[in-house]
Amino acid sequence: MDNLIVKKLELGPIGTNAFLLWENKGSEAILIDAPPNCGEEISKVLKENDLTLSQIWLTHGHWDHMAGVKEVLSPGIKVIGHLADELMFNNPAVMSTFSIPGIDLQPIEITQWVEDGDQLDLWGRTTYVFHCPGHCPGNVAFYLKSEKICFVGDVIFAGSIGRTDLPGGDFASLEASIRNRIYTLPIDTELAVGHGPNTTVGDEMRENPYVRPL
Ligand SMILES: [Zn+2]
Repeated sequence: MDNLIVKKLELGPIGTNAFLLWENKGSEAILIDAPPNCGEEISKVLKENDLTLSQIWLTHGHWDHMAGVKEVLSPGIKVIGHLADELMFNNPAVMSTFSIPGIDLQPIEITQWVEDGDQLDLWGRTTYVFHCPGHCPGNVAFYLKSEKICFVGDVIFAGSIGRTDLPGGDFASLEASIRNRIYTLPIDTELAVGHGPNTTVGDEMRENPYVRPL
């Protein structure tokens, strides 16, 4: 197995983190989240490294994480998401009041629904899917144990947490998701977050003011 490259790209009108994963030049790549207007930058990185995009893993159905899918999609690319956000994938315009003007909100076709406990193969590495509702009903985290990294979407941030005032948000659920699924990971696990700088499980357990470990 070759080293995994994880490239973090801050993209779109409100600075959403997307992550492009690959092993070698000339190989396949997997994109985690697709912010609006991501197409040009993602295509550039793919081209520079001679990569072919094979899958898009969506942490959740908010427009700033998935409205760019259509810009990078081509036939055969697998698109992964959680069924609890089906309404937003099918009809992103329901969130248009929380979007910004000029963003084209087209339906996103999920080709593989995932649920809690599923395992996804990442070129020989196991990725565990954790359902972490609270910020929205269908936020999932993708935990790559072998690389000590967890892609969490908008569950938790460095010193903050996902907002729970949007439709489908619920603080008690988010608190339970963080305590049961994030704070139970090894403390040196890197949290690859949806906005801002990455952090670690240990740092958030020590310092996150919004959700304290029990
Ligand atoms: Zn979100």
